Amino acid sequence: MLVYKFGGTSVGSVINMNHVKDIINTKGKKIVVLSAMSGTTNALVEISGLIKVKEVSQAKHKISQLHHSYKSTVNDLITDKTLRSEVSSYVTSIFDALLDAASQPHSTLLHNTIVANGELLSTFMFSRLLQQEGLKATLLPALEFMRIDRTNEPDNFYIKQNLERLINQSQDSDIYITQGFICLDAEGQITNLQRGGSDYTATIIGAALEVEEVQIWTDIDGFHNNDPRFVNNTTALSHLSYDEAAELAYFGAKILHPQTVMPVRSLDIPLRLKNTMAPNAHGTLITNQIHGEGIKAIAAKDGITAIKIKSVRMLLAHGFLKKVFEVFEKYETSIDMITTSEIAVSLTIDDTTHLESITEELEKFATVEIDDYMSIVCLVGNQIIYHPDTPQLFQVLQDVNVRMIAYGGSNNNISLLVNSSDKLETLQKLQRYVFEGTVVSV
Ligand code: ASP
Ligand code: MG
Repeated sequence: MLVYKFGGTSVGSVINMNHVKDIINTKGKKIVVLSAMSGTTNALVEISGLIKVKEVSQAKHKISQLHHSYKSTVNDLITDKTLRSEVSSYVTSIFDALLDAASQPHSTLLHNTIVANGELLSTFMFSRLLQQEGLKATLLPALEFMRIDRTNEPDNFYIKQNLERLINQSQDSDIYITQGFICLDAEGQITNLQRGGSDYTATIIGAALEVEEVQIWTDIDGFHNNDPRFVNNTTALSHLSYDEAAELAYFGAKILHPQTVMPVRSLDIPLRLKNTMAPNAHGTLITNQIHGEGIKAIAAKDGITAIKIKSVRMLLAHGFLKKVFEVFEKYETSIDMITTSEIAVSLTIDDTTHLESITEELEKFATVEIDDYMSIVCLVGNQIIYHPDTPQLFQVLQDVNVRMIAYGGSNNNISLLVNSSDKLETLQKLQRYVFEGTVVSV
């Protein structure tokens, strides 16, 4: 069994859905996880926001616009009359429920339920496309097997049991289609695995069924050595280790949801990134194998807040760090980077939900300085801290204001904290120096 996951662009048009159909039309049983069509989840988030603030006419306008575009997709995608009318009524029932929610002043339709519709729509349409083409495809409702527990971790036992039960009920199928992203919480309410969570769905399923491989199909040919949105001449990486991929995903490489690697790493299930628009390109294969040395890839994560905490006594008293960490623990806020000196500790967070309370508590025993709009630039590669070329990268950064450096926390990662306004320049300079062999004059 294989798991294939296709992202929003891959199912974002009739042409692309047909590409996807061709890609999966091979021998062997497979699970196909789909995102919502590109743009749909954003539109649903907006609609949900408008409903919440009771902007009734704007909400209705947006709902009708979206419905309109789905109607034309259905018309182009499904030619079989019976299937087309089945898909049309399904689509209409979803948009009618949204319109109802918009008109009722006390709508009980919750945000996560509204947002879940994107994946429900794409999978329904795609499953009927496959049936129209005579393929043996079954739709497995994610909300009947995908569940997270009270700590927001996948409830693996429940997932395995229910997924196997559903698959056994339709043994004669070759292709099982399901929704990425959406799931139930411990109370049985609809929730999701956070934006971009379809990747995570794919590896959770892959681990539950101990499949041979999980393939994530997107609109780029795998992980690149730098962020192609900001830097020219980036190249695709053919191989990464689980650790390298996990660090890159966590530190901003948008291609993968940050938690995607976790479920497959411990079971040693290969994770392959492929490009739907160029299916013959190699893509990136992620396994426990180590390939290459030195700096392999660079990624950047925005929206970082740096907090400098100075002990009110001159020297870092014994127990000071423990007190600092306890505050972050209490507010369930995770720390990304940390550096210390004799009198202060600087650290970064990306979730500022509880920043005010955290600051208040820290100020009981320390002085606190906060800098926002920061970015972490993360350099990843096997054993990079030992590579002879690595220390030279600091020359490149002579005229970039680096606020913090984490070097040696792991042998495979160096993280730099810069102002977000300096991120572009930092990425571009690193690209030229590290991958193009040009020492930039600074
Ligand atoms: N549709 C969801 C999103 O846009 C999940 C995903 O695409 O992975 O975030
Ligand atoms: Mg994605």
